[in-house]
Amino acid sequence: MCIFCEIIAGNIPSTKVYEDENILAFKDINPVAPVHIIIVPQVHIECANDINAENSKYVSYIFEKIPEIAKSQGIYSYRVINNCGEDAGQTVKHLHFHLVGGVQMGEKII
Ligand code: 5GP
Ligand code: ZN
Repeated sequence: MCIFCEIIAGNIPSTKVYEDENILAFKDINPVAPVHIIIVPQVHIECANDINAENSKYVSYIFEKIPEIAKSQGIYSYRVINNCGEDAGQTVKHLHFHLVGGVQMGEKII
């Protein structure tokens, strides 16, 4: 099982901020900003390359819930980041979106 599947299964503890039958959102263990939430589908999808017609509903659902999750953390302005593959710095091979905010960020992405 991957680390995020272990977190979903409750085998690795996490600070959950939102959970339902489709997705889980929890605080990043190594935050880069005052608000840094990881949002994952409950099903294991390795990375953005594996999004297809069958599972893309989880991605749209995550984006449907992002405003609510952000609001629960007291932010209304934020950056959503997905790393896909090793060159992009993906270290956990379970599709996830970083919700980052609570600080003034630069205009550039990298
Ligand atoms: P990636 O680099 O794959 O896009 O992001 C993986 C993120 O998961 C990193 O920001 C890292 O800090 C976070 N992370 C890795 N292991 C754990 C863990 O066991 N618990 C939590 N809460 N976050 C983790
Ligand atoms: Zn997984």
